[in-house]
Amino acid sequence: MAGLCAAARARELGAAPVVHEKGTRPGGSMVLSSCVIWRFRQWDDFRAECPAGDERLQRVVWEGLDDGIAWLESLGAPVVAHETGNPRTVGKRFDPRGLTETLVRTAGDVRLGESAREPAILATGGFQGDEVLVAEHIRPGGRLRLRANPWSGGDGLRLALERGAALSAGLDEFYGRNMPDADFSEEEFVPLAQLYGRYARVYNERGEEFFEGEISWSENDLVQATARQPGARAWYVLDDRALEQQVRDRKVADIVALASTRVDPAALPFAAPLGARVAVRVAPGITHTTGGIRIDEHARVVGVDGLFAAGADAGGISTGGYASGLAAALVFGRIAAETALNRL
Ligand SMILES: Cc1cc2nc3c(=O)[nH]c(=O)nc-3n(C[C@H](O)[C@H](O)[C@H](O)COP(=O)(O)OP(=O)(O)OC[C@H]3O[C@@H](n4cnc5c(N)ncnc54)[C@H](O)[C@@H]3O)c2cc1C
Repeated sequence: MAGLCAAARARELGAAPVVHEKGTRPGGSMVLSSCVIWRFRQWDDFRAECPAGDERLQRVVWEGLDDGIAWLESLGAPVVAHETGNPRTVGKRFDPRGLTETLVRTAGDVRLGESAREPAILATGGFQGDEVLVAEHIRPGGRLRLRANPWSGGDGLRLALERGAALSAGLDEFYGRNMPDADFSEEEFVPLAQLYGRYARVYNERGEEFFEGEISWSENDLVQATARQPGARAWYVLDDRALEQQVRDRKVADIVALASTRVDPAALPFAAPLGARVAVRVAPGITHTTGGIRIDEHARVVGVDGLFAAGADAGGISTGGYASGLAAALVFGRIAAETALNRL
């Protein structure tokens, strides 16, 4: 998303950018996503939800997103919904394939299966795809299942660090979803997400209710807490009332029915609570890292002259919470192109 937006903007400004795409298809995780590009309706909500994020970068995303979305529409990107469906947020849902095609067409020169030796703008999508980096920063000694494109393995971060870049806050944080604790395919990233932890009693393998306080609407706090439990697993235990709850366009019972790791409460490794009807073993799927390269408001990599970063490579924007990764990639992708061209 960030790389294509940067290149599309650069082309518009009269440059001849080249997108070097390591993967076999363009669009990264964006093309796999639900493609809701959003911001918090209220600035104060953004600050409250992502309190440890860099306020100056957050301001840039929050103020620049509406223009960014209008720009995507002006390029011909197909909008599927003009609302996010969440009263706390504003934004639009795009068709991910249509958005990818629009950006590729505007960017002009997208080369698949290759990496750049001397990139101007780093937009490799974070380090969730690298087990060593995940074990180092996020889950000491362990791994997490990937819920993202398979190519984002921290190449941008490594290159930036080799050149003396500074790191952002929140290197141990990530955005993800609790998924059934079993293998899953790309097509299952969205439908299999077990996004009803707030209606469940949540236990770890030892039978401890480990999450204290209220689970957030995004449930990203619960997902990260799950990653810190023994074996990075949790049990969602549901009663009849929980199964009847609505999550977006589905009932909790319908989401549970898709999980191959659902069991009878009698089969739990600890005593089930009264009224338990079903239990699902879940584990975090990591979508993208939250921390990474530190950038300034102009997408310049702090500590390295002439290098820019955008998207999940640029960390520290949603630290402490969850915000739209597509929004940050769109806004800072465009800014990276604008700043880079002023310098060249
Ligand atoms: C199932 C799912 C649902 C999601 N839903 C939403 C949503 O509704 N709203 C939202 O805001 N976000 C959503 N996201 C997150 C969103 O997709 C990401 O935040 C966004 O794509 C990040 O943009 P990016 O440019 O940093 O990374 P990407 O879009 O992943 O692009 C990174 C690209 O870099 C390439 N690459 C990696 N290494 C190299 C290298 N060395 N050389 C060349 N190329 C390289 C990768 O192949 C990839 O194409 C979702 C993600 C998933 C997986």
